[in-house]
Amino acid sequence: MQVSEAGVYRTYIEKTPRSRALFASASRHLPGGSTRMTIYHKPYPVYAASGNGCMLTDVDGNVRIDCLNNFTSLIHGHAHPAVVAAVTRQLPHGTAYAAPTEIEITLSEEIKRRVPSIESLLYNNSGSEAVMGAVRAARAFTGRTKVAKFEGAYHGSYDYVAISGKSKPGASGDPDAPVATADSEGLHPSALSDAVVMRFNSIPSIERALDAHGKELAAVLVEPICGSAGMIPARPDFLAALRRETGKRGILMICDEVIALRLGWGGGQGEYGVTPDLTTMAKIIGGGFPIGAFGGRKDVMDVFSVGGNGPRALHLGTFNANPVTACAGLATLQAMDKAAFDRLNGLGETLRGALRKVLAARGIAGQVTGAGSLFQIHFTESPVTDYRSAKAANAELAFLMFLGMMNRGVQLASRGMGCLSTPMAQREIDAVAAALDATLKEMQQEGWLG
Ligand code: PMP
Repeated sequence: MQVSEAGVYRTYIEKTPRSRALFASASRHLPGGSTRMTIYHKPYPVYAASGNGCMLTDVDGNVRIDCLNNFTSLIHGHAHPAVVAAVTRQLPHGTAYAAPTEIEITLSEEIKRRVPSIESLLYNNSGSEAVMGAVRAARAFTGRTKVAKFEGAYHGSYDYVAISGKSKPGASGDPDAPVATADSEGLHPSALSDAVVMRFNSIPSIERALDAHGKELAAVLVEPICGSAGMIPARPDFLAALRRETGKRGILMICDEVIALRLGWGGGQGEYGVTPDLTTMAKIIGGGFPIGAFGGRKDVMDVFSVGGNGPRALHLGTFNANPVTACAGLATLQAMDKAAFDRLNGLGETLRGALRKVLAARGIAGQVTGAGSLFQIHFTESPVTDYRSAKAANAELAFLMFLGMMNRGVQLASRGMGCLSTPMAQREIDAVAAALDATLKEMQQEGWLG
């Protein structure tokens, strides 16, 4: 049977006529109908009408528990009262000035209080820009050009990191020394020749790559939880080894916390007790508005210092630290104290346990990865510890499960990834687990699953 003949697929189309029509309209303006590839999926994405707390309503009036939260960026869900109040207070006073504001100082204090490895930081408008800035800082500081990353990891759309995020395991060589492959046409060729790719959670892979390229490497980029590869937590000894091996060779360790910052009060690095040289952030620190930030060691960040003889490296951006984003981000962080993290992460643990129970009770070979408030369901018998073990899972089943969950009022990413938000409670966990059970039952009855 074709995916498009599956019951979940047909039901999805039946429930979303207005989204279908809007997508047809969008296709007249946007290439293929989409301006954001991560949210496109077949046959078309649902169009949002409004969000409130952990619920999202689409243009057809379908209401869903939002377990995607704009790809992990909304830790308090939609329209959190404190965020709405902060933004509403700011709007009548203007949204952006060619002048700094006091709020950028307050936000910086709040971030530094939580993440002590950040001695000095800069703002921009997306995670991609944050990574671009951190890589520029590392190159300017070390005088080296190469950048290392892990296979399957996504660090944004900047040319020099758009490498081996989507590599084909069968055609990418030794798992411990993957060949670098371009994720996109149109990259500058040096993006590929300046990239070094390693295997996530493998200490031998780090040692091999750093022994071979150590003297040319400006930085290694790593996520404490490898998001796009399959929400795979780093092993503590792996992050510790990466810290040790980069430090020995004068390579800067950049911790990409664009997603991982939601793992705890001190971000992923706080949970693991690791101190990187630089950190990149986005998503939750913008409180639902566009943001990026990067920071770390003062001596490194001083390449951007406008004092003295002027900066060695450029950092600009018309909307950097604009007061609307900054006050939304500040309100978000202030509402996210240690107790709120404990509660949210406890819900995450409960949900991962409940999802595993549903899979087991239905006799389905599956894995639930994740940490804190993050999770992903993989249809595979084997443990998922890196990109290639995640790729071995059945993506078609994950996609059908996603459609079935959408039909039953639960929004996930089309690859089966999700996250929780603070307005959620046990009743949402129970509803998500029940939706998974009903979806898997339907897929079993149709013969998709044994
Ligand atoms: N780094 C990581 C780890 C990410 O997950 C993402 C986006 N999901 C980015 C960087 C890029 O962020 P943005 O989409 O804000 O450019």
